[in-house]
Amino acid sequence: MEQTKFVDVLLPLSVPNLYTYRVPRELSDDIETGKRVVVQFGGKRYYTAVVAQIHFSAPLKYEAKYVVSVLDEKPIITALQLQFWNWMASYYMCNPGDVLNAALPSCFRLASETNVLLNEARPDDNSQLSDDELLVVDALELQQVLSIAEVTKITQLKNVHPLIQELLKKGFVILEEELKQKYKPKVEPYVRFHESYHHEDSLRILFDDLSRAQKQLNAVMRLVELSKVLTDKPILVKKKVLEKEADVSGAIITQLAKKGIVEIVQQEVDRLQDGLVDWADEITYSEQQKTALIEIKEQFQSKNICLLHGVTGSGKTEVFIQLIADILAKGEQVLYLMPEIALTGQMINRLKKHFGNKVGVYHSKFNQQERVELWNKVLDGNSYQVVLGARSSLFLPFTKLGLIIVDEEHESSFKQYDPAPRYHAKDAALMLAQSHEAKVLLGSATPAIESYWNAQKGNYGLVNMHKRFGGVQMPEIWCADLEKETKRKTMQGHFSSMLIEHMEATIEAGEQIILFQNRRGYAPTTTCTACGWVPQCKNCDISLTFHKYYNYLNCHYCGHHEPLVHKCPACGHVGVKQTGFGTEKIEEQLQELFPKWRIARMDFDTTRQKHGHSKIIEQFENRQVDVLVGTQMVTKGLDFDHVGLVGVLNADQIINFPDFRSFERAYQLLTQVAGRAGRKKKRGKVIVQTFQPNHWVIQQVIAGNYEALYKQEILERKNVMYPPFVRMVKITCKAKDRNATIVGSDALALLLKRRFGSRVLGPEFPSVERVRTYYQRQLLLKLPRSKSLPEQKQYIQDCIDELKAAKNHKVARWVIDVDPI
Ligand code: ADP
Ligand code: ZN
Ligand code: ZN
Repeated sequence: MEQTKFVDVLLPLSVPNLYTYRVPRELSDDIETGKRVVVQFGGKRYYTAVVAQIHFSAPLKYEAKYVVSVLDEKPIITALQLQFWNWMASYYMCNPGDVLNAALPSCFRLASETNVLLNEARPDDNSQLSDDELLVVDALELQQVLSIAEVTKITQLKNVHPLIQELLKKGFVILEEELKQKYKPKVEPYVRFHESYHHEDSLRILFDDLSRAQKQLNAVMRLVELSKVLTDKPILVKKKVLEKEADVSGAIITQLAKKGIVEIVQQEVDRLQDGLVDWADEITYSEQQKTALIEIKEQFQSKNICLLHGVTGSGKTEVFIQLIADILAKGEQVLYLMPEIALTGQMINRLKKHFGNKVGVYHSKFNQQERVELWNKVLDGNSYQVVLGARSSLFLPFTKLGLIIVDEEHESSFKQYDPAPRYHAKDAALMLAQSHEAKVLLGSATPAIESYWNAQKGNYGLVNMHKRFGGVQMPEIWCADLEKETKRKTMQGHFSSMLIEHMEATIEAGEQIILFQNRRGYAPTTTCTACGWVPQCKNCDISLTFHKYYNYLNCHYCGHHEPLVHKCPACGHVGVKQTGFGTEKIEEQLQELFPKWRIARMDFDTTRQKHGHSKIIEQFENRQVDVLVGTQMVTKGLDFDHVGLVGVLNADQIINFPDFRSFERAYQLLTQVAGRAGRKKKRGKVIVQTFQPNHWVIQQVIAGNYEALYKQEILERKNVMYPPFVRMVKITCKAKDRNATIVGSDALALLLKRRFGSRVLGPEFPSVERVRTYYQRQLLLKLPRSKSLPEQKQYIQDCIDELKAAKNHKVARWVIDVDPI
């Protein structure tokens, strides 16, 4: 007789353990690890779970429930993924379900409380629906929203998940989460021939008719070719592409449309593939690139990880592209990781130019269907061999990964802060690569101190590119001394005379300017001029930033906003004063000084929409904008041809940040911003405004001396024991009641000190005590690198669990951050 099978499943819930279920006989043959199943958990709720293990032992502590159904015909999660997720949960000390929730697109994990809605863009034709499906659609037409539990009731099916999947696939319903993303498809005008011109004869007559309208004729003839109108599969042609190819203006095409020869249709730009793919020009590598390629390959003979340290504009990306081509030729997959905000159309186009539709893109602004589509294609291994993505693309079902590239590897945004798993994509990439026996290439102009240290120790290979591509010199950097200029009264608003002079010269020379200010909004502090009252966020201990465009005060920690008051609520005085400055104020002051200049702003506020970011970049690229004012966003991986000047409005804000990484960060940030200047042909200029022009870090940035920065920093970190010499774990105790965080964190410190002694720092309140109505008190642990980390983490977890179980700490919540940054 066949033995009863049991499965351990991963639930999409933050619970510490895997759960065991009994497999009913009729599903016994279907069950496989990596398939999704429907199970009941906690009362009557149904969840989609993932089979992690199959075995024959019933759980000891509870009566196993039956698996309700198996959702997949084939596993959609690979064994390597399960292994990787498992590592992530234990290394970053979170629950397996947290990892699952980060990893699986939400379409893949319906639960009883998931809501479905009618898709506004659903097909008109209901005839393709089964009776049950129709029942659901009819119900939704009356009721708008149904939870999965309600759908179950209506259909009286035991398992409605396949039905919902089918409705999603057919485009009749969407999940509520998708709606929240408010995805607006990017549309662009496309051109096609009117139906009556789909034959050779009619086209010939048309050519004759237009023989005296040369431009229109050109356009028509190019459109015949591009649209393949005479084949079985005519295609739409982007209006812009046609204009360029036929060398005509948009007006010519509009005329053709008026005559009824062509039609202009607003078409959603293909989600995964953008327009016509144009083929790459032959590339000739510089000597430096050739050498780097050889060296990297040599390093990979003996090492699995290599750091490519190349100055901005040295041509690292082309080196990456050649390495990708090699891996593809071997039939393996490549993951190209970038920080989310650097994932611009520019980068996507560069890769697509070389690898066409082999490139898949994956990041947070993509909707659920797009993610599922990409997931399946990566799993199947035959398309999207190159995935360009942000950190979450680590979770895709790669089957034969050969190389992971981590571009801009120093970027702190590779670390996820919230929610768990609080993982660092670079470190996770190393782990993932190891399980695939793949190589990892880290690339940066300003490597993380930890990475460079690993390279110095020989753990990683190291390859350098010291010069810019094409012999362009590194930008010239000057400091504008804010103290002197303030004394001499030569400042105009927040602009020094030095910066103004250079800006004028740059614009006169027909070049563009980037201005960097690391704070958004208009003014970070508002103060009553009589009593000194400052408006604070009601949820957080932080003052509110004034946003002039929206005309409100905004909290940058929790998003809360409220109207600006003109009368002080404390003393009744009418008159408040704005101090400090953000991007919005810089934009405004600049426009007042130079009314003729075309100025654009790129920050969180102007890029909220899905394509906001790329729109601004496009305008700047097309030189419809003279000056781009922005936050960090303007520094990330952008490659513009005509930027003659970069201005940093206040370097002191960056340098004086209270954190052990502040010098490293300041060096990275300033070097990266400076790197946007003068990339193609001409040497660029950079003006750094600061009160401390002789500051050591600024001097190293000017000298471009990363080595010096590294040597000083690594010494410092060794002296005071910071990473890479120790491993840090930060534990935050949160509660609405301030006292509870004190009691809770003190109790934990006591427990931890029993084992770790002076390696426990704190607890103390961070500079912002309260965020989103929760007080937080923090402990920092510095664990030795040598001792067995997993066992130490277990001890920490046990201590926290002990407190969680204790009555007097019930209100405290605990957040564990491993390798905080
Ligand atoms: P990095 O990533 O190191 O900052 P990029 O790869 O962006 O540098 O290269 C800088 C510029 O030089 C880009 O505009 C790129 O198109 C150009 N470039 C790099 N290598 C080549 C090459 N072999 N042939 C032509 N142009 C190149
Ligand atoms: Zn007042
Ligand atoms: Zn707030």
